[in-house]
Amino acid sequence: MNFKGELKKLGTCNVAPLRERILSKGDELWTRSTWRQEKFPAHTYTQAVDLVFDRDGRHQNPTTQEPFYEFEDVLQPVLAKVANHYNNSPTGRRLKKKNGSGYFIRVIFAKLLPGGSIPPHGDDGFSLMHAHRVHIPIISDGKSMFTCGESSRVLGEGEIWEINNRKTHAVQNDSENFRVHVIADWVIAGERCCCGKRLRPKGSCSPKECHDTDWVDQCCTCLD
Ligand SMILES: [Zn+2]
Ligand SMILES: [Zn+2]
Repeated sequence: MNFKGELKKLGTCNVAPLRERILSKGDELWTRSTWRQEKFPAHTYTQAVDLVFDRDGRHQNPTTQEPFYEFEDVLQPVLAKVANHYNNSPTGRRLKKKNGSGYFIRVIFAKLLPGGSIPPHGDDGFSLMHAHRVHIPIISDGKSMFTCGESSRVLGEGEIWEINNRKTHAVQNDSENFRVHVIADWVIAGERCCCGKRLRPKGSCSPKECHDTDWVDQCCTCLD
């Protein structure tokens, strides 16, 4: 989702138990699901574990995948920090009465291989433009650079960052070690995108209504 800014630090959390659990699993964990690398050239240097995920890009009724349960006890405290942040935000509080609770529509582990990169790109599609994309580094030795818009920085282990995925972003891992992030997409039910609010102040957001602004390459100028 677009917001004023590029990288927003939401807080910190203890990721040590989750890191240990991930490291205790072998390579097998990372080779169960390879469709992403095959479908998207930008993901050549990545491996992912789907925890809450659907391939159809849906925005409601997410599917919890089997690997989630292998990590549930050590992952829940991390996810709870994110959920609490948005549930207690002014927008979260305001919209909850009318639209119900927020929820994670996607949660994955994303590994970036040693020396690997993700080339500059902007996300698109209804769900990615109407959810808050949060990165939490779980395994990182500080040599992986995240760039979003004009900002470049190392995201530290245990830091919780919302990234403006509407802006062009890229990652470069200059380490000889792999890097693992939790990437979690939080939906505040009923929250509107900037373009929808600007173009249709009295309307609502839907894949149909927001189609033309969800699928453009460049970031809009609503918040400039
Ligand atoms: Zn919208
Ligand atoms: Zn906009």
